[in-house]
Amino acid sequence: MKRLSARVKITLWFSIALVLIVLLTYVLIISVNHQVVQKTIRDSLIETVENNVDEIEFYKYIDTNDFDDDLDFFLQYDDGYLEIDDDFLDEVNQVYTALYTSDGEFVYGENIIASETVKLEFSDSSVQKITVDGELYYIYDKQLEAKGLEGLWLRGTVSETQGEHDFTATARISLIILPLIVLAAIVGGFFIAKRVLSPIKQISDAAAKIRQGDDLKRRIEIGEGKDEIHQLADQFNGMFSRLEESFKAQQQFVSDASHELRTPVAVILAQCELSEQKNGGKNDDIKTIERQGKKMNRLINDMLSFTRMELNPQRYSFEKLDLSELCETLCFDMSLIKDKNITLEAEIEGSIFVNANSELISRLISNLINNAYRYGNQGGHIWVKLESKEGIAALSVKDDGIGIAREEQQNIFRRFYQVDSSRSNGGTGLGLAMASEIAQFHGGEISVDSVLGQGSTFIFTIKKSVD
Ligand code: ADP
Repeated sequence: MKRLSARVKITLWFSIALVLIVLLTYVLIISVNHQVVQKTIRDSLIETVENNVDEIEFYKYIDTNDFDDDLDFFLQYDDGYLEIDDDFLDEVNQVYTALYTSDGEFVYGENIIASETVKLEFSDSSVQKITVDGELYYIYDKQLEAKGLEGLWLRGTVSETQGEHDFTATARISLIILPLIVLAAIVGGFFIAKRVLSPIKQISDAAAKIRQGDDLKRRIEIGEGKDEIHQLADQFNGMFSRLEESFKAQQQFVSDASHELRTPVAVILAQCELSEQKNGGKNDDIKTIERQGKKMNRLINDMLSFTRMELNPQRYSFEKLDLSELCETLCFDMSLIKDKNITLEAEIEGSIFVNANSELISRLISNLINNAYRYGNQGGHIWVKLESKEGIAALSVKDDGIGIAREEQQNIFRRFYQVDSSRSNGGTGLGLAMASEIAQFHGGEISVDSVLGQGSTFIFTIKKSVD
């Protein structure tokens, strides 16, 4: 499975949690609401019927003058009259109340399911249920007990859907609002996660750069803040500063030590010369000392060049350099080396310009050509070719020398690495490391293609100058 980023994982986690919470809320709303609704309907049914009980009275005789409220309703009943007060509610909140005789004969009021309730026995002060056309109704009966009203019943009816209306309204609103809130939370969370995690990405980028030895000066810049991420960035920056300091101190030490070693080595070499003059030639011991002294001298110079490039890169200014011309000159000069009778052939494309430091690029090219001589065979060949392809200048140095085994090829650019020191002919193991460092310093790179016993090709590529 593809690895998920921390941002996606966090968002996914709380999205799932939110959806579960919402589902749970729905279930709760539905069940609680249902119970509440049922209770509310029953309560309002009972309350309406009970209230209506007091609105019915029986009179033997009526004298209309006694009643100033002519909104009241009078019905002839038994041997007198029923007075239905105007506060009697036939219908309130879809709760219907009707007055019946104990035989089930309708007297007054309203009952929308009258034909269905006819069969239903009266049951005092209790709630009964009946389903009509698939719809549930609650029925509440109340026997009237006041004088003259014996044998009369009030029957209240209410449909369950009446309450469901209120319920579905609430549910519908939450059904729309809750997913919207969840969506907003997920989108918001996704962006907040991005904001919160982006400094971590910066920290990891900075650490990666430093790991590649690219840029120890790099710092994580995520602005002001006091949260854990900012503290982490501060800690990292502190660590990077310490690393930079100790790295610089180490380079400085190498630089100082190399510098200090120059004089004693120069004295040793001078003494070798002196001894030659005194003795009229060099004996084997002196020759060995001189050879090793020269090697040490090269080593010191290479180490100094490294540390200079690392400590003072500003020392090497870049200019628009005619790489074609530089290659021509170097090839001409180096073709004069008649070592092992090797011939150097050059094929240089004209007018290739790069933005570079000529001293460093010369050193890079001469290192490659020198190696081709050093590891070339008697009477062998070196082919130097410069060409440009799609904005890139490519310089290849090919030889038909001893070649490099495949498993060694990734090591040869390491400092002090030598495949076989006995064959390196006074080399220091720093030449290719230096060449590769110079290439990187210019934003270019060096690669090798070699077959053991057949020869090697080193290719240096660098971006061409734009204007
Ligand atoms: P050295 O001073 O030993 O030449 P380099 O850094 O220049 O050090 O090269 C590292 C190793 O790579 C050498 O020891 C050598 O074995 C190998 N090498 C470099 N160039 C060539 C080449 N043109 N042909 C064969 N081997 C080479």
